[in-house]
Amino acid sequence: MSSSDLGPQIDSPGHHRVVILGSGPAGLTAAIYTARANLKPLLIHGPLPGGQLTITTDVENYPGFSDGIMGPELMQTMEKQATRFGTAIMVDVVVAADLSKRPFRLSTQSGSTPITCDTLIISTGATARLLGHPKEKELMGYGVSTCATCDGAFFRNKPIAVMGGGDSACEEANFLTRFGSKVYLIHRREQLRASKIMQERVFKNPKIEMVWNTELVDILGDKNVGVTALKLKDTITGKERTLEAAALFVAIGHTPNSQLFKGQLPMDENGYLITEPNSSRTVLAGVFVSGDVQDHVYRQAVTAAGSGCMAAIDCERWLESNH
Ligand code: NAP
Repeated sequence: MSSSDLGPQIDSPGHHRVVILGSGPAGLTAAIYTARANLKPLLIHGPLPGGQLTITTDVENYPGFSDGIMGPELMQTMEKQATRFGTAIMVDVVVAADLSKRPFRLSTQSGSTPITCDTLIISTGATARLLGHPKEKELMGYGVSTCATCDGAFFRNKPIAVMGGGDSACEEANFLTRFGSKVYLIHRREQLRASKIMQERVFKNPKIEMVWNTELVDILGDKNVGVTALKLKDTITGKERTLEAAALFVAIGHTPNSQLFKGQLPMDENGYLITEPNSSRTVLAGVFVSGDVQDHVYRQAVTAAGSGCMAAIDCERWLESNH
């Protein structure tokens, strides 16, 4: 590709060489790297500023913080680091993206002038699906969680409940048996959706008790004491009961935030964006993807940050070789 294939290299308020979508660890790491490469990136926050870590409390597995750090504080620190090197931050949500030609064109919720860019780093993350109970959001980070790897260790020797019947729920339940005195795997039907191998692991694990045909009625507890119990209902008999549990892990799937790119970028059957192997590059020259919007396997802050770094380096090299 020659330089003439690139859009204009002007620094007008509406045009940027690099635009990053998303303000979680992937987006902010991409911002730190592209800013340090003097590319003056524009980062657009998106609907959940700071990403999924802002709805958790202690983060104990992010390297560099021996005593742990609160999720929101970690994200604020990353944003400060990104702005220190010249990242412009826009508190807005992109509602439409036209990637059919360069410069790429983005429209935002605030309805300001469309933004154009030579390169785009998509770090829009994934959203954990929730059951929709009002207490679920209230107690998120206080006993309710969507990430066993992140929060399991807080519930050592306590009874833990997991809600869901797919591979994620089975994986979370198995993992949580390292910590919990017992793990209840609560599913709304009497058959798991998970793969056979995952089902076998669950059934063979003596610390997991299956709770079939059951849905959540209420989460008991508050922000001071955390979760104390769950009120459950048997979907066949209609009978309600209380189950003592110190935590509820909701594992009913994630939705990658890729809707904006439907029909423009390849995605798998679950909506995860597809990149070239071991790279952040996509089929569209100048469009890079990092973080949970393309990763349904690891989904960790540190892996997202690592892939944000990859996207920044891929982007920088692409700009360099296309000048
Ligand atoms: P999933 O396969 O879509 O399973 C979601 C589960 O949550 C289903 O059992 C579903 O119940 C239940 N559920 C959904 N909405 C619910 C609600 N409102 N109330 C109660 N239960 C609800 O999601 P996933 O487990 O996250 O897996 C997503 C994809 O990633 C799959 O392709 C999976 O194979 C893959 N994955 C693989 C691994 C692995 O191989 N190690 C690990 C994780 C994920 P129903 O069954 O009744 O619909």
